[in-house]
Amino acid sequence: MSKLFLFAAPSGAGKTTIVRHLLNNFDQLSFSVSATTRPRRPYEQDGRDYYFLTEQDFRNLIDEEAFVEWEEVYEGLLYGTLKSEVTRLWEEGKYILFDIDVKGAINIKKQFPNEAVAVFIRPPSIDALYQRLKLRNTEDEASLQKRIGKATEEMGYENQFDLVLVNDVLEKALAEAEKIITDNIKS
Ligand code: ADP
Ligand code: 5GP
Repeated sequence: MSKLFLFAAPSGAGKTTIVRHLLNNFDQLSFSVSATTRPRRPYEQDGRDYYFLTEQDFRNLIDEEAFVEWEEVYEGLLYGTLKSEVTRLWEEGKYILFDIDVKGAINIKKQFPNEAVAVFIRPPSIDALYQRLKLRNTEDEASLQKRIGKATEEMGYENQFDLVLVNDVLEKALAEAEKIITDNIKS
């Protein structure tokens, strides 16, 4: 059974940037596309970035026990990893990369303690996180405040991860992320 790489961090810490970089550089990796009820951002594609579902469809899948894990990551917004997604990628013989929230990562690590490598991406500070989210320009002020509020809580879970990756200078963080993959693909 091949490895699961879980990249988790507070919103704005750089998960998407790092995960995209790794996908572009390692053919052996595939992205686990999550399901979500959050509205699609203009640059996102259904089936590539997320499976965008109505809340009713998402809740039906919960009832059918279709998820490995799911969370109400933000009030009223559901996110989850589908069992079918993990099985599909595993059958293709891929290493799977997850962009997931902190609790979701801890949950999957508990279910797959030997296969999962849990990486916590740490931003240099909460203030830097706020600046990055503002510059990304995808959230309104209320959503921004929600994300910053949650970030403070999420920073407390760092010690439950296998590895911590500081994303201050992006090029350094990308090189470190590459090393994490190379080290774990070898073993
Ligand atoms: P996440 O997926 O964790 O929410 P993103 O990857 O979307 O975070 O990054 C948030 C924003 O910060 C993006 O606009 C991204 O380009 C920018 N960013 C990522 N890493 C850095 C960095 N090391 N320094 C400055 N800006 C960064
Ligand atoms: P965003 O709305 O910025 O795309 O994602 C918000 C948060 O939800 C991020 O921390 C992201 O990693 C997390 N997330 C994405 N997919 C999943 C998932 O399948 N399960 C869980 N628990 N969190 C997810």
